[in-house]
Amino acid sequence: MLDKILVANRGEIACRVMRTARRLGIATVAVYSDADAGALHVAQADAAVRIGPAAARDSYLNAGAVLDAARRTGADAIHPGYGFLSENAGFADACAAAGITFIGPPASAIRAMGDKSEAKARMAAAGVPLVPGYHGADQDPATLQARAAEIGFPVLVKASAGGGGKGMRVVDDAAAFDDALSAAKREAAAAFGDDRVLLEKYLTRPRHVEVQVFADTQGSVLYLFERDCSIQRRHQKVVEEAPAPGLAPQQRRAIGQAAVAAAAAIGYVGAGTVEFLMDEDGAFYFMEMNTRLQVEHPVTEMITGLDLVEWQVRVAGGEPLPMGQDDLAIDGHAIEVRLYAEDPQAGFLPATGTLHHLRLPADDVHVRVDTGVRQGDALTVHYDPMIAKLIVHDRDRLAAIRRLRTALDRTEVVGVATNTGFLQAIAAHPAFAAADLDTRFIERHTADLLPDPGVPGGPVLASAVLGLLLGRRRDAAAAARLSHDPWSPWNVADGWRLNDEATETLALRHAGTVLEVSVRYLRDGTFRIVLPDGAAVHATGEIDADSTLHAVLDGVRGRVTLVRRGREITVLGHAATGTHHFTLVDPIAEAEASGADAGRLTSPMPGRIVAVLATAGQEVAAGTPLVILEAMKMEHTLRAPADGRVTDLPYAVGDQVEDGVPLIGFEPA
Ligand code: ADP
Repeated sequence: MLDKILVANRGEIACRVMRTARRLGIATVAVYSDADAGALHVAQADAAVRIGPAAARDSYLNAGAVLDAARRTGADAIHPGYGFLSENAGFADACAAAGITFIGPPASAIRAMGDKSEAKARMAAAGVPLVPGYHGADQDPATLQARAAEIGFPVLVKASAGGGGKGMRVVDDAAAFDDALSAAKREAAAAFGDDRVLLEKYLTRPRHVEVQVFADTQGSVLYLFERDCSIQRRHQKVVEEAPAPGLAPQQRRAIGQAAVAAAAAIGYVGAGTVEFLMDEDGAFYFMEMNTRLQVEHPVTEMITGLDLVEWQVRVAGGEPLPMGQDDLAIDGHAIEVRLYAEDPQAGFLPATGTLHHLRLPADDVHVRVDTGVRQGDALTVHYDPMIAKLIVHDRDRLAAIRRLRTALDRTEVVGVATNTGFLQAIAAHPAFAAADLDTRFIERHTADLLPDPGVPGGPVLASAVLGLLLGRRRDAAAAARLSHDPWSPWNVADGWRLNDEATETLALRHAGTVLEVSVRYLRDGTFRIVLPDGAAVHATGEIDADSTLHAVLDGVRGRVTLVRRGREITVLGHAATGTHHFTLVDPIAEAEASGADAGRLTSPMPGRIVAVLATAGQEVAAGTPLVILEAMKMEHTLRAPADGRVTDLPYAVGDQVEDGVPLIGFEPA
């Protein structure tokens, strides 16, 4: 057994690996960048070593610094988690050279699967079914065109060295082939320094079904069943579940055995995932193998009752797999969703900021929450914007979906935008309940999944106003306690006047619309709130220190979470009412802010300019794309906010820019 494991990762996966190590009585070492000195994974480790500045390439991707940390702390093994150094064959070699156990497959297995064309050739030789296609060395455009015609359109052009959906183009007919090929090659050359491509038949309604495999050094290889990860956005997984709905036992065995054959063909050791596309008729085709633990591994743990990290540790220590294929069974159904700091209403732009309020469902037999952050932590641009993974388990799929909806209902985040509402909409969608899944699920149902936030209902708006009024009253009481005469009427913040009931008008901005509300302070300390539609609500209540507002609106008691920071008020209801942000309008501050920002379009986050689509002096229509910025692995398009003229474009393609810098000078017409 290993004595001390260094976890070469951060966030939830680092915390998750350490949890198992602790349970097994193995000491843990964390590594951290300057941005993570106060992070949860550092707090949870027995020892921690700083490995560099915030940027991942200078810290978590710095193999030398990680190995040095292992040497300095006497760690005898390194767990790479996922991402960063997990699929880096050179790093696996360097660990071996340093006499440190790499908790992962042999470097040769990582290399064998690293190149898509090479991997396909090996899989074909091992008898693993492939999507009909071409992955040969002859890259002559005429050859490729002829092969595409043989395969039959639509055809998918993929970069051989690809990953993350880059260098991929769907071609609908022969006439469009040349342009798509050049575009894919250009993108592949820029992203991977290698413009080789392969061709595949493009499946129009495939499911993404992947198999968890495990192998030991004694030559035994098992499959731990499959996961369905068809619910994706831009080829990134959003919802994952196990087992894959609707698979017949013989299909499950066939896909499991194909995955085992794939792993065996490359001398695999440890945990790996073989990804397949499954056609509407149930035929499945090898896509790629991920030679590491996956983000979505917990759903497999939930249905098998196993701890995959424990198995990884044991296999790395030379132990045989503790079970045979026939000892494994599926218990119930598990679903995972990825809770991200991103704004679905703004094209899923990754969000950064401080988690002012964070409440996640409590772990129990049905719910597991994997997270690497706490309330008060900051999410920066340097890393993946994942806040947590919510994993649920129950006896069958519909029961698991109910658990998921409840878990999402109990998820409260204030401080950064999140995809909670989007996940709730997926979990509540009839097509999801019916397991009508394929990789275009989100695309097809976008209109249902991204509802317009609309106007908040009367009770939500009344709650926001009530929360504001109660907050003011509490602040005034605190101030009065500090002053000499706590009972002075001048210390009461109720608009209280001798023998009179005062009225005040408040303006709250919600999703760009200003809502005017009038408040009458009644003599008994309660309020009469008149909403924009003229409806009057009698309101009273209390607000707890933990941000729970107990409201009584027209005699009906209710409870919501209400978080106030300065002029920002967030009301977190449940799935039916949603989360609503309001800003108390302060006319003076607004005028100053808009004056300062006029005529500039600034970068929403640090990034690199990948395209400048306009020229200085150009007249453009509202919505015209002007500059494309790449940040956090995504492209963000800055568009003309109105009809007008571009006055200045200070940056060129390739320039690195900071957060909030003016990228475009603009003069509205
Ligand atoms: P990458 O390594 O760039 O992520 P993959 O080969 O893993 O690329 O494919 C990513 C996703 O693209 C898949 O999950 C699937 O949704 C889609 N995809 C890939 N190949 C095909 C295909 N032949 N037909 C239809 N969709 C495909």
